Amino acid sequence: MGLNGGVKVTVLAGGVGGARFLRGLRTQLRKAYPNGDGGSTAEVTAVVNTGDDMWLTGLRVCPDLDSIMYTLGGANDDERGWGRKGESERVSAELTAYGVGWPWFTLGDLDLGTHIARSSFLRDGLTLTEATARLAERWNLGVKLLPMSDEPVETHVEIILDGKRRIVHFEEWWVKHRAGVPAQRFIQVGADAAKPTPSVRRAIEQADVILVAPSNPVVSIGTILGVPGLRSALREARAPIVGVSPIISGAAVRGMADACLTAIGVETTAAAVAKHYGSRSRGGLLDAWLIDESDAASAPVIESAGIRISVVPLWMRDPATSTQLAADALAAAAR
Ligand code: GDP
Ligand code: CA
Repeated sequence: MGLNGGVKVTVLAGGVGGARFLRGLRTQLRKAYPNGDGGSTAEVTAVVNTGDDMWLTGLRVCPDLDSIMYTLGGANDDERGWGRKGESERVSAELTAYGVGWPWFTLGDLDLGTHIARSSFLRDGLTLTEATARLAERWNLGVKLLPMSDEPVETHVEIILDGKRRIVHFEEWWVKHRAGVPAQRFIQVGADAAKPTPSVRRAIEQADVILVAPSNPVVSIGTILGVPGLRSALREARAPIVGVSPIISGAAVRGMADACLTAIGVETTAAAVAKHYGSRSRGGLLDAWLIDESDAASAPVIESAGIRISVVPLWMRDPATSTQLAADALAAAAR
């Protein structure tokens, strides 16, 4: 860091929290390392959770990659929080009439365009990494998007429904049941055969800074860390690893991350998530951790676990607060 440009920042990210954080980071790097052309000389690579992916209506759907792509591409429906703005649902209504897909998981018309294009690339034999790059070409993201692996890894959830044990796709638990049925456990189907792609390995090895976005610690970051070999690659990286708490004042800010944490026996607090990730100096992941001002009282206990703490505002209310959060994360890395 501190070199004139060429700074490489690698971010582990899930969907909505990851997307907002990356948007702030892109702005911050354009300010701190301008390339004179509105962009930045810094390079940002996002390693994105693909555990929520699925085949639906014959198409490969990658919710977290798409949330990030739409948000950075300026096409996200910021009011609803996900999907494309100006979206319509004519095709979805037709699919429902045919009994195809999940009626509770609406795919917008514009969004379907993305899934058709992706599926077409995959059918042509491209890897998911290559297909993602092809989709991203259109959007001028200023951030390189990488799926965590090219092999499919799908998060499934064991639940008890009407007295029966069932295993459902993560999205069924999350969207259909609104995470209202307690999860017994999460299963990463396909993880055994998965590995970090060469691009992911390079992004980790060559990074000057590694950031863990304020994303779901279980089904976004936890899924990424569950790819065999990825955790050790991170631990061996020369860059400092700085995480941003997705928990503020004992609550998941947006979404239902608390239901996931409860399922794995981790309290919904910034301190408990930090300890769950662990101190890198003691075999875990983190060198430093950002917590919200409202959680300042938990700083000493996290520091005694071997993780450096920065206390800053963690709410990404708008582009300005997201940008400041990214600046604070970079400052923590430079300390
Ligand atoms: P998903 O894949 O769409 O569920 O999104 P992520 O995995 O990126 O994470 C969603 C989580 O991000 C939420 O449950 C929150 O815990 C966290 N999050 C969302 N918005 C904010 C924010 O403004 N600040 C912080 N610190 N965390 C946030
Ligand atoms: Ca997700």
